[in-house]
Amino acid sequence: MGMDVIGKKPTDEKGEYFRNSGWWWSPLWDFCSYVAPETCGKVKYAYSNSGDGLGALDSKKLSKALYTSLKDGTANKYIKARKKYIKSLPMRKCVHCRATGTRQWLKTSEDEYRSAWNYEYLNDLMGDGQKLPKYKRLKAKKNEKLVNEKCNVCDGKSKVEPWQAGYQIDEENIKNFARFLKTCGGFAIW
Ligand SMILES: [Zn+2]
Repeated sequence: MGMDVIGKKPTDEKGEYFRNSGWWWSPLWDFCSYVAPETCGKVKYAYSNSGDGLGALDSKKLSKALYTSLKDGTANKYIKARKKYIKSLPMRKCVHCRATGTRQWLKTSEDEYRSAWNYEYLNDLMGDGQKLPKYKRLKAKKNEKLVNEKCNVCDGKSKVEPWQAGYQIDEENIKNFARFLKTCGGFAIW
């Protein structure tokens, strides 16, 4: 999923369009809200593709706040603190191999695979990843045999990175957005 930010009345080419993937958009808007809480508070649905946005004046205000944050080191500090925080998060247990590094499959002679375990991992996707879901071992059918393989999700390490590590922000992205805001004449997020 990505966000297309469309300029409403652009006065030059750079104000026409801005795009971030979801992994980049969320931290960018978090940061915008951090440096300009009042302005950004006007956008109710900043994290969805529903056409919400800001008018021309507020876009300029936000642009200025972002440029200032780049100049005075606020952005740099924020990004560093965020990186440090994400690094401090514990690795998550890999649910797919029961945190063993080895995945078990039931394999047919026709090379069809299914997991040898039933488990609901979506429930805990946003949790801290330190607890494994409940597992139920499945019985092999007549034409199946149990196969052990290095886990393809954690690469046999039994742990995976915290999901927060997937979200990205850097000064260049902030700068690009600030530049877009400067001449977009208002914007809508789709
Ligand atoms: Zn694994």
